[in-house]
Amino acid sequence: MADKQQQLLVQEAYAYALTHGLLISTGLDFQMTHAPFTLYPTEIPRSCFSQAMALAPCFNKLVDGMARDLPFLQETLKGVCEADDFMARLMKITTEVYDGSQPTQPWMLGIHRSDYMIEAGTSRLLQVEINTISVAFTALSNAVNRLHAYLLSKSPDPQRADMVQISQSNVQVPMAMRDAVHTWRSSAGRPDGGEPRTGGVVAFVVQPNERNVADQRTLEQTLWSVHGIRSVRITLEEAARDTTLSMENYDLTLPDGSVVALAYYRCGYTPADYYTEDCWKGREKIERANCIKCPSLPYHLCTAKKVQERFSNEAVLQRYVTESELQILKGCMMPQHDLSSSAPAVLESIARAIRDPESHVMKPQREGGGTLVHGATMVQMLSNGLSDADKKEYILMEKIQSVQFENSILRNGAIGASGKTVPELGVFGVFLGKGEGAPQINAGVGHLLRTKMADTQDGGVCSGISALDSPLVRP
Ligand code: ADP
Ligand code: MG
Repeated sequence: MADKQQQLLVQEAYAYALTHGLLISTGLDFQMTHAPFTLYPTEIPRSCFSQAMALAPCFNKLVDGMARDLPFLQETLKGVCEADDFMARLMKITTEVYDGSQPTQPWMLGIHRSDYMIEAGTSRLLQVEINTISVAFTALSNAVNRLHAYLLSKSPDPQRADMVQISQSNVQVPMAMRDAVHTWRSSAGRPDGGEPRTGGVVAFVVQPNERNVADQRTLEQTLWSVHGIRSVRITLEEAARDTTLSMENYDLTLPDGSVVALAYYRCGYTPADYYTEDCWKGREKIERANCIKCPSLPYHLCTAKKVQERFSNEAVLQRYVTESELQILKGCMMPQHDLSSSAPAVLESIARAIRDPESHVMKPQREGGGTLVHGATMVQMLSNGLSDADKKEYILMEKIQSVQFENSILRNGAIGASGKTVPELGVFGVFLGKGEGAPQINAGVGHLLRTKMADTQDGGVCSGISALDSPLVRP
């Protein structure tokens, strides 16, 4: 494309992003800039797109099954908890709250995102991970999809605009939150067996200096404008300091007298979010309350890489899903290994990772990007012999050799990078259930495509590596 034409396209894309709320905070006094995004959408094979959507209800069910199996979580995370104070503390609260000594809210709301890459050559859809806490971009995904459709509609090839998949997660996620609030109001949602009630607000539990505010505020606005449900934003510290937890009925009451019906976490997944002891108190207080949690602590623990390492084990999956669900799940699983095991298959994979650094990646129990270990660092760690603590902390996963495209990434109104790119397709799944009977909701409700330059290994939009993108799917 001629330079002049590309410049005009960049200007148009930039203007669209700013006028349609495709924004993140710069971190300075409410100043906003656009979220990084690609100039063009990326073509995703229809079969991969459909497969990713079909996987969502199966993963939702798997997470719910594992989360409600406390002995499984305790056993799977035992080693991690010995090596990692953060995980140990999350597990301690989980065990204390769910040990049966107080009535706990059986309803749990999951808003997950399962992320996949597409393998070069085979076009196999392979899972990278599933996120079960603070899943971002349910609103901004819709905005970037509309941006790409708009730009294509004005291009010389306008019929391609209709092939851009528009995620409905911006609408569907607030609907799931509304359903959770309605459930909390009903007598079925009262762990103390009380009468149905009215009211109840959604507490967005957030970081004090949150950057992804446009994404979150859009959900809050929809909750109010479409469903008439109020929301408040509180930090974990404020939850400890400014709320009251009734020891009679476990209502969590805010200073204005309103009661929390749903606690929706957009923080709490990283040790940095627990910057004072009060933050831990806030987390525990919310967990003990009768509000529905998104996620509950057991759901949160399923985001741990050690739990997801068990996805490679068919016998484990069989405990939680039906045979037909198992077949669907198996199709996207990339082999993963527990490094604390000395099984022959694990030792063989370690040897292979040392011989061929491109064959594997290593991941610790952390969320939010920037922690992947690969290449020379991985080889060095593995060949020096891992410490006991590292064996408990890391998993080894076969590396997905992804398809590559050509694209440009826009940052701060200009092209920040151009060249070979790698897409990661996420599908949002929502689940509302109480651990028995059919769930009230179990569905895939939209997608998020993130694209990074092919020469980067890790990912994450907020960590400055990936950009928002849209799937273009041919009929
Ligand atoms: P987190 O998002 O919790 O940091 P991920 O498992 O998503 O952890 O890994 C971070 C990034 O590393 C991914 O977005 C992806 O780009 C890359 N990655 C992770 N696992 C693999 C894998 N098996 N093969 C290739 N790339 C991977
Ligand atoms: Mg990830």
